[in-house]
Amino acid sequence: MLPVNEPNQRAMPADRDNSHVDRLNALWKLSMRRGLSDPERIRAMLAMAADVLDMDLVVLGELGEHCTARYVSDRLGVLPEGTRQPVELSLCRIVYQTCAPAHIADLAAHPLYAGHRMVTEFGMRVFSGIPVSVGDETRWVLAFLRRRSVPPLDAVDIAYMDLIADWLGNALHQSAQKELLQRIALTDPLTGLPNRRAAEERLQKEKARMPRDGLGFALALVDLDHFKMVNDRYGHAVGDEVLEAVARRFEAGLREGDWVARWGGEEFLFVLHGSTAEGAVAILDRLASLMRSTPVQTSVGAIPLSFSAGAAAFGEGDCEIQSMLEEIDLALYRAKGEGRDQIRVAAHTRFPWNGALLRQALAETRVRYASQVIVDLQSRQAVADEALARIETATGEIVEAKDFVDMAEGLGLMAEVDRQVVRSVMQHCVVRMNEGGPPDFAHFVNVSPQFLARRDLVDEMLEDAMDYCQTCSAMLGPVKPIVLELTERQRIVSLDKLRADLQPFIDFGFRLALDDFGSGYSSYLYLAHLPVSFLKIEGWLVSQMRQDRKVAGIVESLANFARKEGMRTVAEHVEDAETARILADMGVDYGQGWHFGRPQRAHAG
Ligand code: GH3
Ligand code: MG
Ligand code: MG
Repeated sequence: MLPVNEPNQRAMPADRDNSHVDRLNALWKLSMRRGLSDPERIRAMLAMAADVLDMDLVVLGELGEHCTARYVSDRLGVLPEGTRQPVELSLCRIVYQTCAPAHIADLAAHPLYAGHRMVTEFGMRVFSGIPVSVGDETRWVLAFLRRRSVPPLDAVDIAYMDLIADWLGNALHQSAQKELLQRIALTDPLTGLPNRRAAEERLQKEKARMPRDGLGFALALVDLDHFKMVNDRYGHAVGDEVLEAVARRFEAGLREGDWVARWGGEEFLFVLHGSTAEGAVAILDRLASLMRSTPVQTSVGAIPLSFSAGAAAFGEGDCEIQSMLEEIDLALYRAKGEGRDQIRVAAHTRFPWNGALLRQALAETRVRYASQVIVDLQSRQAVADEALARIETATGEIVEAKDFVDMAEGLGLMAEVDRQVVRSVMQHCVVRMNEGGPPDFAHFVNVSPQFLARRDLVDEMLEDAMDYCQTCSAMLGPVKPIVLELTERQRIVSLDKLRADLQPFIDFGFRLALDDFGSGYSSYLYLAHLPVSFLKIEGWLVSQMRQDRKVAGIVESLANFARKEGMRTVAEHVEDAETARILADMGVDYGQGWHFGRPQRAHAG
């Protein structure tokens, strides 16, 4: 046992008694003071103890292989926070080894410490070291040093030191637990990546950082393709293995400072500093190629995978986190819709346009439509029109469908868009007929599966339709002038369900048109399941017809097929007289396109 000088065990006089109470009061006040962070409170505690005990240096050190001065109150400026030295060389060694307090009244007379740098260089004389227990561990020491050897420490001082050490032990313990909880709350347990909450916090920090360093960043949202199939085929546990392995790959593919978070089930959010959209695509492309070339290894063998991604770059001017996320989400949605295993860059629209503005426009019924005429290719008479959805911005600009439909679909708002368009088309139809317009003139309106799946909206539309029929002066037979256009652009979960959703309209006398026919692989499946009256031949086929005989052949066979099945055909994108003539010769019934008329001014809702 090393010689340790015992402090004077004197009885406590009355004035010492009072000063002890004052010290306790001050300690209590400091521990209750609001607005201090944990480190600030610890430093304030050390400063107070230094003051009370008239110490030159108070150190809260962490010991392991080294003794590190984590928190310091230092009148002399001799020991900066963070200073490390090997434990053998530290004055605290004895406290650490014995787990007991050590009080040395005169270091200069101490056989072990007389030559210590603190004594020879800085003239320290008094040393007290108290072990600090943090939870179950005693890896911390609270050390007091003073140059003057008088007054000697008494029992009150020592009781006070013990109290401070206890308090600090508690504070460190609580702080460590808080940190641990925070880490758990912000980490995805499966992949160890930051979770969505952490990512949201970090995004706010990225936004705050942008004006300081002048660098924007790119965001990318990655979603694994057909991941459900992995779970279905190999089980959830293997699905989890895949997610872990993918997380490691994504992490490994990042540059210093960039980060990736687990945004949702099998969705990952990337943040790439100072990157353009092209830069982001390049990084993701590399990861996508790796995915294609090297299937993920799991306990049941290698599993081939691919992912789709939406990306965009943002600068200081357009840094609204929510709209950024919406933009990349829509780009991802497009990547999925266009066949998966691809990366799409968000298309910035001409307008400051985002989900919040769209919601507001819907709430304020600012959905409009522009109508484009459909012409009988033989008689050249207008026989119908198509209502093309538009949105009027709060400042009166007209947003075209291509600039909001993806967003509306992605946000689940398409049903409301359709509802407003359909309602104004029906109103317009009644007005037209009451003014003596022909009752067999048809109005084509686009309806999304999102709309059809909403029973309440469907019922409302049918009720409206019945009311309109009653106010209409024209005598309508079983066939009504509204044609619902469906497109296979959106993913349909089940054609049987779609058919059931449509049935009330069919019963009411609305007809169906299949839009963009020829653009996708399931067009014929639709035909098999649905009582379609009109086939709208995809615009690209029509515009290519004159240059490409094969395409012309396809259009012709579509027209023949439709005729045999009792359907009418409408060719879209007819832009010149020659195309109109060829189509008429082929037996296509109707045409729509700039040759016959551009979409007309938007109608108010
Ligand atoms: P898509 O190409 O359209 O993205 O198809 P998908 O099958 O990936 O479709 P979707 O995004 O709808 O489904 C994601 C699936 O991921 C559904 C869900 O069961 C699964 N998933 C989500 N979180 C976890 C997870 O933590 N572990 C496992 N094993 N599966 C998960
Ligand atoms: Mg997926
Ligand atoms: Mg998903």
